[in-house]
Amino acid sequence: KGSQWNAAELETAAHEHLISPAEEMAKLGTSGGRPMFASADGVYIWDNRGHKLLDGPGGMWCTQVGYNSKPIADAISAQALRLCYNSPWYSLSGPAAELSKRISDFAPGDLNHVFFTTGGSSAVDSALRFVQFYNNVLGRPTKKAIICRIDGYHGSTHLTAACSGRAGNRPNFDLALENVSFISAPNVFRRPKGMTEAQFLDHLIAGFEERVNTLGPDNVGAFLAEPLLASGGILIPPKGYHARILEICRKHDILYISDEVVTGFGRCGHWFASEEVFDIVPDIITFAKGVTSGYVPLGGFVISDKVLSRVSGENAKGSYYTNGYTYSGHPVSCAAALANIEVFERDNILEHVRDIAPYFQEKLQELKTLPLVGDVRGTGLLGCVECVTNPEDTEASEFDKQVALRVDRYCYEGGLIVRPIGSMCVLSPALIITKEQIDEMVRILRDSIVKVQ
Ligand code: PLP
Repeated sequence: KGSQWNAAELETAAHEHLISPAEEMAKLGTSGGRPMFASADGVYIWDNRGHKLLDGPGGMWCTQVGYNSKPIADAISAQALRLCYNSPWYSLSGPAAELSKRISDFAPGDLNHVFFTTGGSSAVDSALRFVQFYNNVLGRPTKKAIICRIDGYHGSTHLTAACSGRAGNRPNFDLALENVSFISAPNVFRRPKGMTEAQFLDHLIAGFEERVNTLGPDNVGAFLAEPLLASGGILIPPKGYHARILEICRKHDILYISDEVVTGFGRCGHWFASEEVFDIVPDIITFAKGVTSGYVPLGGFVISDKVLSRVSGENAKGSYYTNGYTYSGHPVSCAAALANIEVFERDNILEHVRDIAPYFQEKLQELKTLPLVGDVRGTGLLGCVECVTNPEDTEASEFDKQVALRVDRYCYEGGLIVRPIGSMCVLSPALIITKEQIDEMVRILRDSIVKVQ
């Protein structure tokens, strides 16, 4: 039934006692304009004042099958009553076992073993800790550097925050940077002036190879990358980017971690995007978010047999991968994920995304005719509208960095949530969205951009 308190009492409690992620500290005690949500159904949310909103970001890229799914809620309830918890440090549960098999079946190549965590940050953190463990067991303790990209996002633990290259997340934190090395983002829209896309691709690949050589291949453990940079503003690399980087990784025995926390579970029309959309079979894929459609927290990584076999069985040398959580593979979360997968299959969600994504992209492209819109890009049910006041700018101006926030405010009034990131309005709706709802979303976004420009 939710809280018995009224809207004003709840807001007061939040203002006086709640610290939120990305809290603007000067505004602590005012909620900084953050809305409070009360209920949701399908692709819609109602705030605690009763205002109905189309949820453009799909929660935070996670509400794949939409809000208020009875099969998932029932599975959560049934598992909570059957076995609400088991310690993964010394026991197994049926839901975790079954889910590991389902995910291994979805994953490409020989990625056949799953390690469960509590969300995306812990998934990436655990994968990176696995790389450290792996190279230490193999007797290569110097192979520690992690190469990642400017504008990438991988989480909020000590290590994953260090690997996240978005400048705004960094001030005032002491990051674990000693083994982290950043290369340029594959930002096609902001590529150096005069460079063709093909030249830009060569430039990016050369940059990676040069970094490996500068660090020394014997010192590089992993390349960590989202298939497309999501929080960085839906930056889709030029075709062939991942395959060429993987080739260099293979040459130097560097593990390739594909962070599919956003792109996994249908966002691009497939269970995972690495192979089907970006033509690579990485060594490790991390996942979270869509695995439960956001109903309960869960994450993990799936890893190749080839990599695992080098440090297990007769190659284990007595080692333990002592990394994990009280809630690794929580049975209620795994039961929710299994029910989520059943809903995907029952409602042909992957096919639906593949069918409707071209319409979504086409409608977003229509916004390109607006004077304030500099670029529109996306794939699957991921889209970004980037506002640019001066097309000659090579970087977002100070004015542009505030534009999406202003657009977002008008959108909210009009009944739409967008994810404002600096100059970019990002959309990743629930995968069940219909053409009519896409029309509604784009209409409100258009009206709001027109009001700002
Ligand atoms: N990796 C990627 C690509 C993400 O976008 C995110 C969160 O948005 C994370 C990791 C961290 O996931 P979580 O917030 O569940 O810890």
